[in-house]
Amino acid sequence: MRTDLAVIGAGPAGLAAALAAARRGIRVTLIDAAPRPGGQYFRQPAPGLRTEHAQVPRNGRRTWTRLRDALAASPVDVRTDHQVWCVERESDGLTVHALTGPEGREPAEVRATAVLLATGGYETVLPFPGWTLPGVVTAGGAQAMLKGGIVTPGPTAVVAGTGPLLLPVATGLAAAGVRVAALVESTDPVRLPRHAGALAGKLPEAAGYAARLLRHRVPVLARHTVVRAHGEDRLTGVTVAALDAHGRVRPGTERLLPCDALAVGHGMLPHTDLAGSLGCRLDGTAVAVDAEQRTDVPGVWAAGEATGIGGAALALAEGHIAGRSIAARLRGRTPDPRAWAPAARARAQGRAAAGALDALHTPPAHWADGVTDDTVVCRCEEVPAGAVREALPLGAGDLRTVRLLTRAGMGWCQGRLCAPAVAALTGCAPTPYRRPFARPVPLGVLAAQHDRPRPRSEEGSS
Ligand SMILES: Cc1cc2nc3c(=O)[nH]c(=O)nc-3n(C[C@H](O)[C@H](O)[C@H](O)COP(=O)(O)OP(=O)(O)OC[C@H]3O[C@@H](n4cnc5c(N)ncnc54)[C@H](O)[C@@H]3O)c2cc1C
Repeated sequence: MRTDLAVIGAGPAGLAAALAAARRGIRVTLIDAAPRPGGQYFRQPAPGLRTEHAQVPRNGRRTWTRLRDALAASPVDVRTDHQVWCVERESDGLTVHALTGPEGREPAEVRATAVLLATGGYETVLPFPGWTLPGVVTAGGAQAMLKGGIVTPGPTAVVAGTGPLLLPVATGLAAAGVRVAALVESTDPVRLPRHAGALAGKLPEAAGYAARLLRHRVPVLARHTVVRAHGEDRLTGVTVAALDAHGRVRPGTERLLPCDALAVGHGMLPHTDLAGSLGCRLDGTAVAVDAEQRTDVPGVWAAGEATGIGGAALALAEGHIAGRSIAARLRGRTPDPRAWAPAARARAQGRAAAGALDALHTPPAHWADGVTDDTVVCRCEEVPAGAVREALPLGAGDLRTVRLLTRAGMGWCQGRLCAPAVAALTGCAPTPYRRPFARPVPLGVLAAQHDRPRPRSEEGSS
């Protein structure tokens, strides 16, 4: 026996897809690395905290309750604490390889006819002097601490960078009792009217955040950036400065904001490792999909932020469409797109808004000017900006050669964090690295791969 559909990722996209397919009689196995379903947006408190009080954003609570209850009532086989490291194509379908167990080293497999990649995205943080000090966290990391651990990164925080994620982070921290000394956004608000049409649907949400920022007296510094984080053993403050119309720091505008925590983020990138190793075509940095959310690899669908960063509502719409498409295709039928017209409309709106937000929230054009040669760029291998810059006169013309010459991107995260910075510092095209595995795998697991019987078969049970 085998499962019909393996959904990788139990965030908004994966949940919507699993439920849509299961409702149509498809056997679904939903796999996630996290201890509970929900993904980033609906992240639940860690099980050890013994609290069910979810920190779900107000406008998503009803959706979360509906998804959670529907999942509990469904026959979907949920496998949490399963980190997928590879999906293998075989003659009779696809095998999902995961690591599980208390130390995350026990192999587990799920064999399926179809796979949906709903693996979400990850944050980009561009380096600046002092960014490796304890007390500096990513914006999403601060949010994950708040939602998953019910902890805050410090009594006084600055939230900085660019992108819509800064808003829930600043308001979430303030609501949790943190004094948010400033929300520092590098985008120039005069660019907003250019994108007003595409962003019209986001206005109520934006107004809600604006009201909460006002209520918590969070000062907003637009067209500003963090130029340096200060401290010896840990963060004691940040220097922020105004930007000119070309994205350069305006001399004389620097000021020090004392704080214990800096939550910083410069946008997000899609998770494409599993898609890349399966050979799926990428469209820029995202997995390319058709109108049914199918990739160009037979039996593989993708939905949510793996196919482009766009928020939870877009992920839900894409997941729903993917689930319905999979259900029809696995039954040998051609789906009728009219059946999911409302989701398709939500997807079109969501993609238009995502495009506008992407154009609006670009990091300051000259951010790399402020990166001193001794600033660490690749944290895993501790490669400073000076070494990365020196790779150019040594003949590096692409990211791969910079990597070979400097070791930037060769560590644990395999360049996920530093690749955008290395590309900007060297002027190389920011092409995604192709990684054979989505996470490091113990050698013993690899060696046992093709032995029979398989280490621990987790085929669908129904
Ligand atoms: C850290 C962080 C915090 C965020 N917080 C917010 C927020 O508060 N508000 C907001 O509006 N947006 C937030 N976002 C944006 C958020 O990603 C989306 O809006 C939304 O959750 C996307 O839904 P999704 O289903 O595409 O992906 P996600 O919700 O990201 O879900 C993807 C799921 O896939 C799982 N996964 C990924 N790779 C693997 C693998 N190899 N094996 C097993 N499981 C895997 C992950 O554990 C995750 O549960 C956050 C993003 C990040 C990165």
